[in-house]
Amino acid sequence: MQAVLDYLKQNETRFVNELCDYVRFPSVSAQSSHKPDLNDCAGWLTEHCRRIGLETELCPTAGNPVVVARTPRNGAGKPHFVVYGHYDVQPAEPFELWKSKPFEPRIEGRSLFARGASDNKGQHLAHLNAVESYLKTKTKLPCDLTFVIEGEEEVGSKSLAGFLRTNTKRLRCDAVVISDNGIPRKDLPALTYALRGILAVELVVHGPSRDLHSGIYGGSVDNPAMALSQLLAQLRDKKGRVAVPGFYEDVVPLSAYERRQLARLPHSEAAYRKFLGVPECFGEKGYSAIERRTARPTIEINGLTSGYQGEGSKTIVPSWARAKLTFRLVPNQTPEKIRKALLARLKELCPPTVRLEVEAGHGAEPYLVSPTSEHAKAAIRALKSAFNREPVLMREGGSIPIVNEFKKHLQADTLLLGLSLPDDNAHSPNEKFDLDCFSHGMRMSAYLWQELSGQ
Ligand SMILES: [Zn+2]
Repeated sequence: MQAVLDYLKQNETRFVNELCDYVRFPSVSAQSSHKPDLNDCAGWLTEHCRRIGLETELCPTAGNPVVVARTPRNGAGKPHFVVYGHYDVQPAEPFELWKSKPFEPRIEGRSLFARGASDNKGQHLAHLNAVESYLKTKTKLPCDLTFVIEGEEEVGSKSLAGFLRTNTKRLRCDAVVISDNGIPRKDLPALTYALRGILAVELVVHGPSRDLHSGIYGGSVDNPAMALSQLLAQLRDKKGRVAVPGFYEDVVPLSAYERRQLARLPHSEAAYRKFLGVPECFGEKGYSAIERRTARPTIEINGLTSGYQGEGSKTIVPSWARAKLTFRLVPNQTPEKIRKALLARLKELCPPTVRLEVEAGHGAEPYLVSPTSEHAKAAIRALKSAFNREPVLMREGGSIPIVNEFKKHLQADTLLLGLSLPDDNAHSPNEKFDLDCFSHGMRMSAYLWQELSGQ
């Protein structure tokens, strides 16, 4: 084991350079113009996995390919773990808010800035580096590992579910390990035991058949932008609660134990406000900020557009207005049931003067796993060895839809061992990855295979 840790240390500079190479690919899955970049990125990853000694396949899907990389199998009966990651990234827009170009990595202090640095390229590369270390130092791995690294996570993992369905047999495993989430501070490692789910919808309000002169027609027809704004305003009350009948019906209340655990996480209201640049915090009454953003359901408007956006004024009644919405869901809400409740409410709210079209987006169920299982305890020990600190237990506000697919197709629980920091700007301009988290993550992964295999 010492040889593995030494190798990780000796090769740290090269690992950072390789992460720089990896984030140079603008593998933006939401934008079809980047399709060739996704293929190139998957190709680079396949080559990389082969070079470090993994048996690697680039598996085509209806969408972007999945990279499957296995440690050489020698001898049956070893535990088997799947490590999941994704090589696709979020769009980098708005470009003007980046201090340096999103796909030209920049290192400042211990931070590596680039789109995809922490979400998710740096995080799964840490696991690949740990495995490389075992293979190159000829240290016996106490388990078999299969890496499954996909290219559609940021757009709902559409192809991976089918991929898992057809590859169930060779992916059957004792547990899945995912590092695609966060820890509160770099000196505070964490095991995440719950995730929020998601439901995405897009609303389009149609008014007149074309943009109209607001002087000639204004006042005689409804304004779709106004109608949409009024409709949206009725979906959340002033206290921060979602105003859709039945929305809270299936929410499992937080236990006293959970509330105590969540209260252990560091939080300063003033620092939080300053960090986010808001004049005051907001949220559902009766819950702490940590509970609000990890353990309570929400509604958000993600995008809102209508009418003229160019220079100067243009006096029109726009023909249409559009809004992108997402709901974050908690156990045991389901996207299907919430979608139905929402549609019923929208039907009630939509005035007869406009036509409302609802486009269904992706959905994912929330996730909850026991933080006291043997695997969870093993992961906590690995975190403690790597970070030299007592880990905390936490919930994550984000969604990793594939976690439920792993449960469904492989009947395997997922250990969420995130390496990202709260100020890593995932999905925002100036995304970064902390290089200390990178090296701690490699060590954590190295310990993890021993701990999970009971060695
Ligand atoms: Zn993401």
